[in-house]
Amino acid sequence: MDIYEIGIYALTFVFIGFVIYRYLDQAKKLSVATQEKVEIAKATGRFEPLSLYPYIDPKICIGSGACVSACPEKDVLGIMNGTGTLINTTSCIGHGACFQACPVDAISLRIGTEKRGVELPHVKPNYETNVEGIFIAGELGGMGLIKNSIEQGIQAVIAAKKRVDIQKSSHEKALDLVIIGAGPAGIGASLKAKELGLNYLVLEQESLGGTVFTYPRGKVVMTHPVELPFHGPVKLVNTNKQELLELWESLRIKYDLKINENTKVNSIENKESHFVLNINEGSPLDALTVILAIGRRGTPRKLNVPGELSTKVAYRLLDAEDIKGERILVVGGGDSAVESALLLMGENEVFLSYRKNAFARIKAQNDEQIQRAISEKQLSVLFSSEVLEIGEDEIKLTQNGTGLSIPNIDRVYIFAGGELPTEFLKNAGIEMELAVNKIVKEH
Ligand SMILES: Cc1cc2nc3c(=O)[nH]c(=O)nc-3n(C[C@H](O)[C@H](O)[C@H](O)COP(=O)(O)OP(=O)(O)OC[C@H]3O[C@@H](n4cnc5c(N)ncnc54)[C@H](O)[C@@H]3O)c2cc1C
Repeated sequence: MDIYEIGIYALTFVFIGFVIYRYLDQAKKLSVATQEKVEIAKATGRFEPLSLYPYIDPKICIGSGACVSACPEKDVLGIMNGTGTLINTTSCIGHGACFQACPVDAISLRIGTEKRGVELPHVKPNYETNVEGIFIAGELGGMGLIKNSIEQGIQAVIAAKKRVDIQKSSHEKALDLVIIGAGPAGIGASLKAKELGLNYLVLEQESLGGTVFTYPRGKVVMTHPVELPFHGPVKLVNTNKQELLELWESLRIKYDLKINENTKVNSIENKESHFVLNINEGSPLDALTVILAIGRRGTPRKLNVPGELSTKVAYRLLDAEDIKGERILVVGGGDSAVESALLLMGENEVFLSYRKNAFARIKAQNDEQIQRAISEKQLSVLFSSEVLEIGEDEIKLTQNGTGLSIPNIDRVYIFAGGELPTEFLKNAGIEMELAVNKIVKEH
């Protein structure tokens, strides 16, 4: 070997050493950054999942980072010490993109943990509950996403139809099927019910569209196209709320879907041959079968203060970009309240009333933005405050025991969480189970 060759080997050796050093150095920095994020997530209550989450098997994971890049939400997953880890797990909405992206199948999708179990209704493979004739579709059954919910709505109708065919003679005047909820699952179910010629009705406590319209962000991600009865495939991969709402409205008109909005089902009585549904307004309805497509958000919690029935009060924010030059009060301290206040503040004068003395459990990104907005005086946050009365000319509040009034408010948005449907389900006789590490999707 001559001196020239020795030089080449030495340089190659140094180069490889440098590459390995850089790689290990970067991996170490990444681990430290992820570790910090995990600690913040734990301290702020975002680490422990609320519902669906990816479980990473450390024995299989090779730390490729494919799951981190594939996740459409931010910082749900990260890489630490060469393997995948959960960070802000409360932000997982179950896209399942991580599950698909993992090159070694180390991810399964699960619901509930030892620390935070999730109560789910017991559902058979044909979507029927323990109460014969009551079916469940969509997020209420545990599996989220628009596409999954639509598909489950369709499958539940196919199963309900079989039961209608058996029961039909027992009560001819009853509706064949009542679908409760007009979110993606209810819409999918109504199209299928129409296609199968069922005498059906959809009852929706608010308006067409479901949960998607209760969160402030405009962007909606549907990672795969979905096949709708009558209509065929829908390919809205990267869409927004407006486009989605237009699609639902066009389907409703085109196929004359029977959807009664502003109709809340308060309870379901089982009369053996049929069900009686008690609703907020009007006479009870008789139905041979029922599909619960009510999601998991429940009914928006009211403040129960005088003046809350005013038309200036809303529980969801639509078309934020069209609201300009107004004085707005946002009530609440969760992600929906904070995101709404941030969206509205540029063009409007925004006040945010929150009963606690600091934000907790909101997404890291929202926390950063709201803290910046507060310091730049882009909006006024009233911590430790509660609304007492919503008047025409002023909103009365109390802050740390002292009375307070905000005059000339044009709109009030209330994001005080939801009353979970657990009691409603139990009263209908539906058995619930506590899901702990329940696998809903695995390879
Ligand atoms: C922040 C966030 C972002 C998300 N982003 C996406 C996304 O980008 N892409 C995606 O695919 N999914 C997304 N999801 C998930 C998606 O919104 C849900 O999985 C989907 O809406 C579930 O549909 P559903 O029909 O089962 O229930 P829902 O959409 O919750 O609809 C249930 C309907 O039932 C009604 N209802 C409830 N109780 C009653 C009653 N007693 N009487 C009458 N009506 C009743 C409700 O008013 C509601 O309209 C997101 C979720 C969140 C929280």
